[in-house]
Amino acid sequence: MRATNLYAPTLRNTPAEAEIASHQLMYRAGLIRKSAGGMYTYLPLAWRTIRKIEQIIREEMDAAGGQEIMMPILQPSELWEESGRWGAYGAEMIRVKDRHGREFCMGPTHEEMITALVRDEVRSYKQLPLMLYQIQDKFRDERRPRFGVMRSREFIMKDLYSFDKDIAGMNESYRKMSVAYTNIFTRCGLNFRAVEADSGAIGGGHSEEFTVLAPEGESRIACCDACSYAASDEKAALRPINAPDEAELPLAKVATPHTSTIALLAEYLKIPVEKTIKAVAYQTEDDVLILAFLRGDHEVNEIKLVNAVPGARELRMADEEAIRAVGGCPGFMSPIGIKKGTHIVVDETAMRMHNAVSGANEADFHYTNVNPKRDFGAVTVADIRLVEEGDACPVCENGHLHIGRGIEAGQIFALGTKYSKAMGATFLDEAGKTQPLQMGCYGIGVGRTMAAAIEQNHDEHGIIWPRAIAPYEVVVVAVNAKAEEQLAYAEEVYEELRAAGVDVLLDDRRERAGVKFNDCDLIGYPVRIAIGPKTIENGTIEVKIRKSGALVNFARDTYLKGVQDMLAAL
Ligand code: ATP
Ligand code: MG
Repeated sequence: MRATNLYAPTLRNTPAEAEIASHQLMYRAGLIRKSAGGMYTYLPLAWRTIRKIEQIIREEMDAAGGQEIMMPILQPSELWEESGRWGAYGAEMIRVKDRHGREFCMGPTHEEMITALVRDEVRSYKQLPLMLYQIQDKFRDERRPRFGVMRSREFIMKDLYSFDKDIAGMNESYRKMSVAYTNIFTRCGLNFRAVEADSGAIGGGHSEEFTVLAPEGESRIACCDACSYAASDEKAALRPINAPDEAELPLAKVATPHTSTIALLAEYLKIPVEKTIKAVAYQTEDDVLILAFLRGDHEVNEIKLVNAVPGARELRMADEEAIRAVGGCPGFMSPIGIKKGTHIVVDETAMRMHNAVSGANEADFHYTNVNPKRDFGAVTVADIRLVEEGDACPVCENGHLHIGRGIEAGQIFALGTKYSKAMGATFLDEAGKTQPLQMGCYGIGVGRTMAAAIEQNHDEHGIIWPRAIAPYEVVVVAVNAKAEEQLAYAEEVYEELRAAGVDVLLDDRRERAGVKFNDCDLIGYPVRIAIGPKTIENGTIEVKIRKSGALVNFARDTYLKGVQDMLAAL
């Protein structure tokens, strides 16, 4: 490809809406353009990268036993009624009607459709295991689309589904996918961690996220410094912390004027924040009130809280009215004296406190000497705390958890029989008995992987593509394309590289050298070859490695091997 023919409109300025580096750079390097909120067109350079990522994914899926198919994007509501998700999926699902008034959704994921496909064909254990996948656009009307293709409303996903005759088989399929995902992100040249994850709206049992490490990433992950434990902050299990032993003192009510926050309270009573118990009040999508109580310095993990309340799906902050209706007083809450039947969830650590301070459900009053086990009555006790830097590892003896950030590029789920039971997808086992299929599902965001690669690999000048997914591996720049000799020489080098199988672009534009070099850095080709006056003079060919900035001069007869060696080392 020649840059004179390439549609790669680079920009000097960054659009205001692009908040993070990858989004800014994808715009500036001419990779994407916005079509509507959360919807983007991939331009030629980006599409080459997408195709390379997809190729890596296909190779690894096929190697693990996957077979590629393509399902429709539009899915009839009836299938989702069968699984119970037509109602449960919520506002993220884009719903449409056909001319007959029949309802469909634009597929946000394909568990229902594939389960329906397989239940009609798979009859016997002899047809198992089975792994089917597709690479296709998915639609999710995200509450807050942002960061360009990282969190968009239409996005490309690879989704594979596994079907097995028993749990051992499902676990083996899951293991194979875990290995395949590790291979994929390794081959893409990314620094990532596989972390234990919550299974969210997809449901089922065990799940892992593949998180590309990047300081601006939306995911918070906790990794142990002593063992291999790593989990998303939504999932990270925490050991309850025991408060130092103390003799229980009698409960007392004290006046605490103007202390509606934990900080004010601790200051007023001259006690450490660790001696206080705080409340956070939520309401579910069905307006059910949930009162969560934690040690004053701890934060609620809303995912754990949802999981601790049967039937709850989504939480929002509670209205004051709802709190007052059960006898609570915002800013001065305690489980003591709250109307019976209210959902109260107390964090395990808070439950182990002695002689603590909590609200008295009355403005400007608190209880002291609160001993939760003695005083709280019938409450749900659960780990509902958000992990913090330095928390004890839940798995090993001496390890501590450290918090990092990243981008979830893929997630795998051992689903079990959630969908097969709901939708009647069964087979006959060896004994001739009808059994539900054991399923797994495995997704990778292709566009998000590309964005994550940029977020992890860039500098102030632009993108630094990992070689495997660079739109072109090498660019040959005719420094002054108006100088006929330089252009002819560059063409020759370009043809030579092409003949040697190198993925190369020729920058033959009649632009100033500075403009072209800046574009090379911005677009981020791993290797840049400059054909300039020196080349014409004495055959010197200058090669620059984008990542290290290293410049090496080769002679005419050694440059090809030099470039190949450099690429191999990247
Ligand atoms: P998130 O938590 O970031 O919203 P998710 O957990 O809902 O994502 P999955 O259902 O696990 O997403 O989908 C599989 C993969 O699809 C994700 O790991 C991610 O790479 C990609 N993906 C999900 N939502 C989006 C989106 N809105 N834009 C781009 N890629 C997405
Ligand atoms: Mg996910």
